[in-house]
Amino acid sequence: METSIHNVIIMGSGCAGHTAALYTARANLSPLVIEGHEPGGQLSLTTLVENFPGFPEGIQGPELIENMRKQATRFGAQYRMGHVSSVDLQKRPFTLNVGKDILQTRTLIIASGASARWLGLPHEQALIGHGVSSCATCDGFFFSGKEIAVIGGGDSAMEEALFLTRFASKVTLIHRRDQFRASKIMLDRAQKNPNIHFLTDTIVEDVLDVEKKEVTALRLRNMKTGKGSDLPASAMFLGIGHIPNAKIFEGQLDMDQDGYVISRDYVLTRVPGVYACGDVQDRRYRQAVTAAGSGCMAAIEVEKFLEEQGR
Ligand code: NAP
Repeated sequence: METSIHNVIIMGSGCAGHTAALYTARANLSPLVIEGHEPGGQLSLTTLVENFPGFPEGIQGPELIENMRKQATRFGAQYRMGHVSSVDLQKRPFTLNVGKDILQTRTLIIASGASARWLGLPHEQALIGHGVSSCATCDGFFFSGKEIAVIGGGDSAMEEALFLTRFASKVTLIHRRDQFRASKIMLDRAQKNPNIHFLTDTIVEDVLDVEKKEVTALRLRNMKTGKGSDLPASAMFLGIGHIPNAKIFEGQLDMDQDGYVISRDYVLTRVPGVYACGDVQDRRYRQAVTAAGSGCMAAIEVEKFLEEQGR
């Protein structure tokens, strides 16, 4: 166990975590950021971000997140690789297990975000890294000149499909309904792209071929006709949303039926001194700018809390 007690530990290094780090660092609280399983969060897996204010031409997601990190570091935020495997929020200081270390902190900001959702197909997990992926920017390049399928009907799926047309000979976007959640601008762009073909009212029942250790086809079923078919494809990219990274708080914090941390007054959890911000507690907006905003709120709450505690 480390003997020193931190003022504030921030779990997660996406938009919310970096912003909380920036604000708590500028408040002289020497924040420690535990980077988590996916350093940089969802922005580090995306391409051009066009809706973060202040960048009229847009900015690449990884560049934006790197800038945030540099900015927080400039004011003294410390970053540490690894993830929090368990926490004890029963008494203060709170205790966190990170790798072999036990850390103690007076306050905790949960900014652990959300991770890609999988379909749960019989052979999906076995083919991850062999053609099944949730990250077009990471893996798209490997499928140059090949036929690719993208699953989902939201902005993520549109974005992935558009990005993958840079590499693929053909992209088939498969969606379980014929109505789309995607914003009009993203849907229009995808629909206007001649290399993207839409298959609606269609679900994926399995991905083939686990014996060959590569994706060769998707087994599909049309929801309206009930008809099954196989679509040849070399890769399947998922864009079907995310699951909050909050499992370790089960039983210690209030959570909804989908595992999102429930907060009141934006970022307050039921445990004084513990705050939640970004996608781990936001099922409604889930934007980079709203995550950054709630990271700022959590940091200000930490400052107030420590002041009230006489620190
Ligand atoms: P989302 O909006 O929740 O969309 C998820 C999609 O996946 C839905 O179409 C859903 O179908 C489908 N889906 C979910 N589970 C499925 C399953 N088991 N089988 C088949 N399909 C399934 O998630 P998102 O696209 O990741 O977007 C999340 C948030 O980030 C949104 O607020 C979005 O605006 C934002 N975002 C913005 C941008 C951008 O502006 N450039 C890019 C990416 C994300 P149903 O519609 O039938 O439920």
